[in-house]
Amino acid sequence: MAWFKKVRKPIEPQANKESRVPEGLWVKCPSCSEVIYNKDLAATLSVCPKCAHHFRIGAVERLRMLFDGEWTEYDEGLRSTDPLAFVDTKPYRKRLEATIASTGMKDAVVSAVGRIEDIETSVAAMEYTFIGGSMGVVVGEKITRAIERAIDRRLPVVIVASSGGARMMEGALSLMQMAKISGALARLSRARLPYVSVLTDPTTGGVTASFAMLGDVNVAEPKALIGFAGPRVIEQTIRQKLPEGFQRSEFLLERGMLDMVVDRREMKTAIARVLRFALPQP
Ligand SMILES: [Zn+2]
Repeated sequence: MAWFKKVRKPIEPQANKESRVPEGLWVKCPSCSEVIYNKDLAATLSVCPKCAHHFRIGAVERLRMLFDGEWTEYDEGLRSTDPLAFVDTKPYRKRLEATIASTGMKDAVVSAVGRIEDIETSVAAMEYTFIGGSMGVVVGEKITRAIERAIDRRLPVVIVASSGGARMMEGALSLMQMAKISGALARLSRARLPYVSVLTDPTTGGVTASFAMLGDVNVAEPKALIGFAGPRVIEQTIRQKLPEGFQRSEFLLERGMLDMVVDRREMKTAIARVLRFALPQP
């Protein structure tokens, strides 16, 4: 007979018990570790008041920041049909359903027409939380339509990129969007209407390789990661250590890949200034 017997059951792990601390009330700045009250952060357009770190923001927040007031959204209903019946760790169809449920969006871009300092503008803003802001058929189609809408109505175009690149679950079909959007932008240019590309953290892959770098003016937010392939892949390929600040906005500005690096709090004014300058005078 044992000296001790386990009489009580072990404590059950509380797997599904909710945390008592309300989530997202305070945010810690990943750059300077300052703890910021949620509402204060919203007031500064999600820029750290202490070190000016730019937090990632969603598409709708972006539109709110750019437009003077209300805007009209277009093509909200478009959604991917999973043309390749693609399966990776889980079926793409399931992944789409889950993402649509968690984000309340149908795909990774919102396109709208509204006023930026009273200039009517066609804007497409990408949503990074939707499968990494990846560009599939729907993103390509919505952006193309936003450009065509601008040509029809003689409006300037602003596209805010925030993307990991093409959507691999749609294979070659997603790569075709690069050409499709670029074609629409060429028609916009022929119609003598300006296009401002806004590159935010992160802008990579097929998005960088197509419309994000095709702006009449390419503007980036400070310290945004902008590139085609990631730094690790490049390092492995060229077998060299990459320089400090490689693929960040300031580095690219210095080397002529960008025209401006603008703080988010001044972004709207900067874009409006470019549009006023570039728009054909009546
Ligand atoms: Zn900070």
